[in-house]
Amino acid sequence: MVQKKQFQNNTFYIKRDDLLSKDFSGNKARKFYYYLENDFPKVKKIISYGSAQSNAMYSLSVLAKLKEWEFDYYVEHLASYLKKNPNGNYKYALKNGMKLHVGRGIPTPTKDESTLYIEEGGREIHAEVGLKMLADEILAWKEEQEIEELNIFLPAGTGTTALYLSKAFNVGVGIPRLTVFTTPCVGDEAYLKKQFLMLETNEKYHPKIIKPSKKRHFGKLYRDSYNIWLKLRHEMGVEFDLLYDPHGWLTLLENPKLFNTPLLYIHQGGLIGNESMLKRYERKYDENIEYK
Ligand SMILES: *Cc1c(COP(=O)(O)O)cnc(C)c1O
Repeated sequence: MVQKKQFQNNTFYIKRDDLLSKDFSGNKARKFYYYLENDFPKVKKIISYGSAQSNAMYSLSVLAKLKEWEFDYYVEHLASYLKKNPNGNYKYALKNGMKLHVGRGIPTPTKDESTLYIEEGGREIHAEVGLKMLADEILAWKEEQEIEELNIFLPAGTGTTALYLSKAFNVGVGIPRLTVFTTPCVGDEAYLKKQFLMLETNEKYHPKIIKPSKKRHFGKLYRDSYNIWLKLRHEMGVEFDLLYDPHGWLTLLENPKLFNTPLLYIHQGGLIGNESMLKRYERKYDENIEYK
């Protein structure tokens, strides 16, 4: 679904991938689509690693449950607050049967055909399948709306989503009339470029990277991030994710030129993670904001 919205005198569109389904939504649903749709008769277990708050972790727990696979997940450490007060992605992934391994290092890929090894955040080539579908949906919508030229914006973690979207629009012949813009939420522009290169060596397929005016550390709390998140929710009635989207929106709004061409913002889901992020924001800024 695509909605037309306005915010601070800018008009744009939002692709609501947060509404794909309750359990399997956002860009993780796109990235893991390949695993959901295909049969893997030999697989009995998923192995992955990353943070204990990760959206990818939760989505993999849903996938494992649907497929009746085991799910082993490795974290470097587990915050004592989270351990005592399970919430958000952590709580629901455990409910789905995730087995958590704390402080035992990062697991290495094995040749064992009964295990599926997934890189942190789902950075891997099979993500291209689901993201090509997202690209096709966007292309069909663009034609139906008779929009000639379109800018697309989405914040990046591993950059997998932005990269494969951009690639889908740039393969084949003709002049691309869609430009994918992104900004790094983890690391800097050089880090993000490296992530792109790990998946695709041909730079003509790479998205355009916008440099944020302010460096924000991934997962850290910032007053301006919290503010923009509240404003977006209040003025548009849309709840965005609290890890990537505030930094994404703040950076996008610093670049008003991007709105001179019709712009589509990709809502990449991640709302279950907001439960724990909001608790942290409330504790930090001592503000009682309502959360349903
Ligand atoms: C995982 C995630 C991202 C980052 O996606 P990448 O493909 O790693 O760049 C952005 N937003 C949300 C809400 C996510 O869950």
